[in-house]
Amino acid sequence: MSWLLLGYDVESAEPDGGVTRQFIDALRRVHGELEAPGTLFLCGRTLENNADAVRATMADGLFEYGSHTYSHVRFKTLWQVNEEGETIHEGGSVAEIAREVDGANTVLREVLGVEPLGLTTPWGYYRGLGDRPDLLAVLHMAGIRYVRSWMRNDRDWVPVPLEVQPFFYEAQGFGDMLEIPMTGRHDCDWGNHLGFEPRRFGSVGEYAQYVAGQLDTVAENDWVFVNNQHDTTTVRWDPEMVLVRRLVERARELGMTVGLCGDYYEQRLRPREAQ
Ligand SMILES: [Zn+2]
Repeated sequence: MSWLLLGYDVESAEPDGGVTRQFIDALRRVHGELEAPGTLFLCGRTLENNADAVRATMADGLFEYGSHTYSHVRFKTLWQVNEEGETIHEGGSVAEIAREVDGANTVLREVLGVEPLGLTTPWGYYRGLGDRPDLLAVLHMAGIRYVRSWMRNDRDWVPVPLEVQPFFYEAQGFGDMLEIPMTGRHDCDWGNHLGFEPRRFGSVGEYAQYVAGQLDTVAENDWVFVNNQHDTTTVRWDPEMVLVRRLVERARELGMTVGLCGDYYEQRLRPREAQ
């Protein structure tokens, strides 16, 4: 069975929370109309600034709540090579990351009464956290059981090939911890790169058609497709959530399951536990 997993990094640092609240209004409207579930990966500080708005989404019964760290610290250093040249983006220390993970968990617990099962790492990396069992240990200790951290190719850039699919961090010693890679492009690039190959796109609608086209390959292979958007980019580039609407519509035409990351995790874990 193939799946479409809709996730959102909710991370605006604005103290007055205007962008996040605008995003949440659109999210509730669109997901409500589509009756589609989605997972919010929240930065602790963003949740603090928007506690009432996020808490109100719990009544919709459509959303799962995960972590995006407290204030968006990078887990690894990126050596990014793209058309802009080579750029180094430094990662945080293990101690800093541990504080950030615990900090976000505390806010999620206090504001929403939730112990998050999933975490999206800020930025994302080539091969996820496969080369960092020390960080997997930090996450595992904090109760995290699935992570979205593989979101870059071998140039620490995008796209990630569609065939990079979820796997358990068995070799690293965490057989119950699932990586859910994010393939394709990032919404953060829409502003500068809403025109990336294979051709230039004039609008988010054209881009949505292109991404929805990839679902054919995903469905044929029983793969998972992860769509990720941010509060910031949604409000700026796709306030009507055209991309999500198109993806859900196409996924349902293809008989894919539109589900929560947490449900996908449970479904992958079950046959392993039975062994
Ligand atoms: Zn982020």
